[in-house]
Amino acid sequence: MSSGDKSLSLSGQSKADILVVGGGIMGLWGAVKAAQAGLSVILVDAGEIGGGASGGVLGALFPWMPDRWDAKKQFQYDALVGLPEELAVLEAATGLSAAFRRSGRIIPLPKSHLKAIALRHQADALNNWHQGDIRFFWHVSDTPPVADYIAPEFGEGGYVNDTLAARAAPRAVTALLKAWLERQPNVRLIEHAALASLDAPKGRAEVAAFAPHPSPLPASGERGQWSADRATIPFAPLAGSRWRQPDEGQSSISTITFSHTFIAAGVDSFPMLENLLPPLAKPLGQGVKGQAAMLRSDIDPALPVAFLDGIYIVPHENGYVAVGSTSENHYADPLSTDQHLDHVLEKARALVPALARAEVVARWAGIRPKSIGRDPLVGPVADHPNVISLTGGFKISFGMAHRLGQCAVDFAMGREPEGLPENFTLSGQLSSIR
Ligand SMILES: Cc1cc2nc3c(=O)[nH]c(=O)nc-3n(C[C@H](O)[C@H](O)[C@H](O)COP(=O)(O)OP(=O)(O)OC[C@H]3O[C@@H](n4cnc5c(N)ncnc54)[C@H](O)[C@@H]3O)c2cc1C
Repeated sequence: MSSGDKSLSLSGQSKADILVVGGGIMGLWGAVKAAQAGLSVILVDAGEIGGGASGGVLGALFPWMPDRWDAKKQFQYDALVGLPEELAVLEAATGLSAAFRRSGRIIPLPKSHLKAIALRHQADALNNWHQGDIRFFWHVSDTPPVADYIAPEFGEGGYVNDTLAARAAPRAVTALLKAWLERQPNVRLIEHAALASLDAPKGRAEVAAFAPHPSPLPASGERGQWSADRATIPFAPLAGSRWRQPDEGQSSISTITFSHTFIAAGVDSFPMLENLLPPLAKPLGQGVKGQAAMLRSDIDPALPVAFLDGIYIVPHENGYVAVGSTSENHYADPLSTDQHLDHVLEKARALVPALARAEVVARWAGIRPKSIGRDPLVGPVADHPNVISLTGGFKISFGMAHRLGQCAVDFAMGREPEGLPENFTLSGQLSSIR
């Protein structure tokens, strides 16, 4: 069946084992894992698939620090190590590329006292960053790991070279997942269809399907037309991505019945889940705005990601380098970019002089879903075990969403998810705020 046959607007009544609400990186991996398990899946997105926080440009896949090892760090480590293999399966089936590269990360140490700490982490990585024969390192050196890349004034205390960090192109990843899902006979993807209400005990959702609003973004280069090569362009414009509530009378309501639903609506997941919970002392999560930019530069795409004080410089394929990001708890306009991004760009150009005159070709903002515990929020709602949270990835979703999606499927199939830390679960995070 062609993809066009299945991505139609919703009509009548539909039914699936799993209804996935939201087609960002979390919902897409949840859908992939459910489909791979042989379940039938309907995924609805209020806007365009991959058009929310997952439609960005950065794509850094960073591990947490290798010290104070615990279940949470082990889970993320295993996810980062396993990701290329997971992507390769989908790439082989679709001919598309996620533009994944284990390029590593360089962290300059601007002050000499930071070297002793870095050396401790070097030992921590030797203890913790291994899996069978596979090892990754937190090398510390006095000389730059790559010549003529980081401005020398930032490396007074030396340099860290983390070999586990990687990068992928976010829009290529979501395009890959979507293309794979479109090829599955047990999956239906429906865009411009927003969850309007949920009757959990009956396993029924009402979904409002509507015609897309005109895109506020450039409409050229729709991802549906990408060739395998073009999918490696990390910032190909999204067409008509950002969704707005349909105007009254402009939507049609349809019913979907499900065995389980994954709430993967990014920042919009928090109120959806709160509606199903007893009153909470604090909100379950909040949105944190971030801004990033894509620059045209001919620096080597294999260079490590450069990172210092929250500034990321991510070399991508085909002559692009992403720079980010801001972190804003308060914002008037969630999707605009402003002087905060200019400031980040200024710092990035100082850190990597090769970017001094690089042209900015795209500016982008999105809202990260940050849960109350700052960790991913996965698992069933206590009184409604057929509703499973799949959100809260905050700044690190792209490196872990495949494993979190698998955990959501395990919950749906009545299995204990392997290695899922207590503080990633809905029940674990709720116990900290009650
Ligand atoms: C500037 C910036 C830089 C970042 N850099 C990185 C990085 O380098 N590495 C990394 O791993 N992460 C990064 N992140 C974080 C990452 O992008 C997010 O954590 C991730 O995209 C969240 O994915 P999600 O699927 O939970 O949400 P989203 O991608 O927001 O997807 C949610 C989807 O749900 C849909 N939706 C909402 N309401 C409804 C409804 N009622 N019905 C149906 N659908 C609905 C939306 O349309 C949307 O498509 C960055 C974020 C920002 C803002």
